[in-house]
Amino acid sequence: NSRYRNDFEEICSLGRGGFGHVVLCKNKLDGRQYALKKIFLKDKNLPINDKILREVATLSRLQHQHVVRYYQAWFETEVGGCYGDNTWGSRTAENSSCSYTGAISTNSVGLENKQESTFLYIQMEYCPRTLRQVFESFCGLFDKEVTWHLFRQIVEGLAHIHSQGIIHRDLTPNNIFFDARNDIKIGDFGLAKFLKLEQLDHDQNFTVDATGVSMDRTGQVGTYFYTAPEIEQGWPQINEKVDMYSLGVVFFELWHPFLTAMERYAVFSDLKQKGLLPPAWVAEFPEQASLLRRLMASSPSDRPSATELLHHALPPRMEDEWLNDILRTM
Ligand code: ATP
Ligand code: MG
Ligand code: MG
Repeated sequence: NSRYRNDFEEICSLGRGGFGHVVLCKNKLDGRQYALKKIFLKDKNLPINDKILREVATLSRLQHQHVVRYYQAWFETEVGGCYGDNTWGSRTAENSSCSYTGAISTNSVGLENKQESTFLYIQMEYCPRTLRQVFESFCGLFDKEVTWHLFRQIVEGLAHIHSQGIIHRDLTPNNIFFDARNDIKIGDFGLAKFLKLEQLDHDQNFTVDATGVSMDRTGQVGTYFYTAPEIEQGWPQINEKVDMYSLGVVFFELWHPFLTAMERYAVFSDLKQKGLLPPAWVAEFPEQASLLRRLMASSPSDRPSATELLHHALPPRMEDEWLNDILRTM
C-alpha cells in the first residue's frame, strides 16, 4: 500500500541527482503539482534514517517566499524494487521539457529480486526552472535592477534559512530555482550531509550515484567553484558563512555573463586558485567587486552575514511594473 501511488499521479521526470530521482507529480486530492524526490536507502534500520527524517521535519518548518517549500516526507518499503533506471525514467527532462517515459512498476523486477528496498519520499514545491538554466538561456548581462532584484531575493531566502539555524551547504545556480512567477526559491539543501554519510558508509555498490553532493549536471567541477575553503580543508566546525562564500560566487555570475563553458571555467579557476578577478570587470563594476571580495574572504568571520547584506549592502528595493515585465519575459 503505497502512499506515493495512492496519492500522486506522475507527470514526468525532472531529473536525477546524487541520491535519487525527482519527479513532477500531481496530487490526486488537491489537484496541484509537486516535485517528489525519491531517495534510495539501502538499509532501512540505520540510525541515520531518523536523522534524515528529523532534518526533513526541520526543512518543512521553513516557510519563506524565497525558499522551496517542503511539505512532507515518508518512507516506503518495496519488495523487489531494486534501485535502477528500469523503475524511474532516466535523466531526461532538462530545461523543463518533460520527457518521462517509464511508469513506476515496482513488481516487474520482483521475480528475480525479492529483496526489500526502502525509499525516502520528499514532497516539495515544484519550481519550473533553475538559475543555471536562466544563465544558459540568457547569455548576456542582466539589467542592473533585475540583477539586484534577484540577488536580494536570494539573500532574503538565505537570511531566513540561517535564522532557523540551518546551513544550506550547496548553494549554486543549480539549487536556486524560479517559481512560476519568476520569484527566486532556494532549494535542495540540508540533507546532503546525511545522505552522503549514509551512502558512503553503507553502500559500496552505489558508485553511479554516490559521486555525491558535489556532482551537478555539468559534472563534478560544477560545485567545486562554489565550495568555501574551510569545507575543502575539512575544518571540524563550519558555520553559515560557508553559504556566504557560495553566495559570493553566485553574485559574481549574476554580474558576469559567460559566453562559453570554457570561458566560465577559466575565469572561475583564476578566481578560485589565485583570487584573481578579470581587471576589465573590476573596472566596470568596482562596488560589486569589493562586495564580492568580502563575500569570498578566506576567513569566514570576514564575510558579511545575509542579514548584514540586507541592511547595509543592497540598493533600495525597486518594485514596479517595468521590473515585473522584464521578469515575466525572462
Ligand atoms: P545532488 O544530489 O548532488 O544534489 P542534484 O541537485 O542535481 O544533485 P537532485 O537534488 O536530486 O539532484 O535533483 C534532481 C533534479 O531535479 C535536478 O535537475 C533539479 O533541478 C530537479 N529538482 C529538484 N528539486 C526540484 C523542485 N523542487 N522543483 C523542480 N525541479 C527540482
Ligand atoms: Mg540540486
Ligand atoms: Mg541535490
